[in-house]
Amino acid sequence: MSTGGIATGHAVSPDSGRHWADEGAWEVAEGIHRIPLPLPMDALKAVNVYVVQGDDGLTLIDGGWSIPVARELLDTSLRSIGSGFGDIKRFLVTHVHRDHFTLATVLGHEYGADVALGREEQPALELLHRAGRDGLDESPFLAVLRTAGAEEIARLWAAGPGDLPNPVDWAFPDTWLEGDRTFDVGRRRLDAVHTPGHTPGHYVFADQAEGVLFSGDHVLPTITPSIGFTVPPADQPLGQFMASLARVRELPDLRILPAHGPVAPSSYQRVDELLAHHEDRLDLCLASLKERGSATSLVVAKDLGWTRHERAFGELDVFSQGMAAMETKAHLDLLVARDQASAVDLPDGVVYRAS
Ligand SMILES: [Zn+2]
Repeated sequence: MSTGGIATGHAVSPDSGRHWADEGAWEVAEGIHRIPLPLPMDALKAVNVYVVQGDDGLTLIDGGWSIPVARELLDTSLRSIGSGFGDIKRFLVTHVHRDHFTLATVLGHEYGADVALGREEQPALELLHRAGRDGLDESPFLAVLRTAGAEEIARLWAAGPGDLPNPVDWAFPDTWLEGDRTFDVGRRRLDAVHTPGHTPGHYVFADQAEGVLFSGDHVLPTITPSIGFTVPPADQPLGQFMASLARVRELPDLRILPAHGPVAPSSYQRVDELLAHHEDRLDLCLASLKERGSATSLVVAKDLGWTRHERAFGELDVFSQGMAAMETKAHLDLLVARDQASAVDLPDGVVYRAS
């Protein structure tokens, strides 16, 4: 939720020479195009879908959000490079979030393309399939908010629009990715690397010969991905995220082809910045606990600055406040795992204390 470097809203992408979200099929390497698709009502503005051309058809990294405006733009953008939906052989989806997965699964089932997604996204998909049935009449995020001490925010979220998910948008993939593996894509080899953290089943895809990393939301050039905003709740999402950043640091230094934001020159540089950012946030959380004696995640979140402008918690909208409380909980849980804090489960949320 907070950032380093340039603002996403103003970032020009070197492949297009224009704002990164401007529509088009922008060539990032020979035979690889970046197609930004719109995310209306979303501060992120757009999601980049990458098209890899091979002798055996197209491989798409992520699919975009299944809304008519995105589907039409993907269609015209593919036509502009002499292809169409029928040429898509497979989708490699970085993670289960709607702006990455839903259009991939819709088109994959319509056109017979293989859709691959991390196995550890299955519980989240199953939860979506059960929404509104089986007595699951409230968003599972509300329970997570309550453990963060944010009952009031949970009440406000519960009062918001509760659209039931459309099952067509959330059909299971054809292929579950487990562990690390390699895909042959025409003359290319793509290494699928499991990078849990932002979500449990997140994957990045590296073309080491080309020197590029399809980084999904794991390594974003101008913002940090949300952490702890997953259901069912993951164990130590921040610890997993930081370990996954270290895994990316073990690959060669690669050009970043992110899901949101401009193409960026160095995975090493950005990974180092992201790790330093979270160490800083951990220090701030610990300082807050020491100052207060004991506190819930919500109380600590109110001591921190948010977004790249270091906004006060109270200036955030209620949705961002909930995400901030959950992200703070991820930081506090990691302090507990590092023996720098302890935690007690109370009815009004988990209470932390510096050790
Ligand atoms: Zn995303």
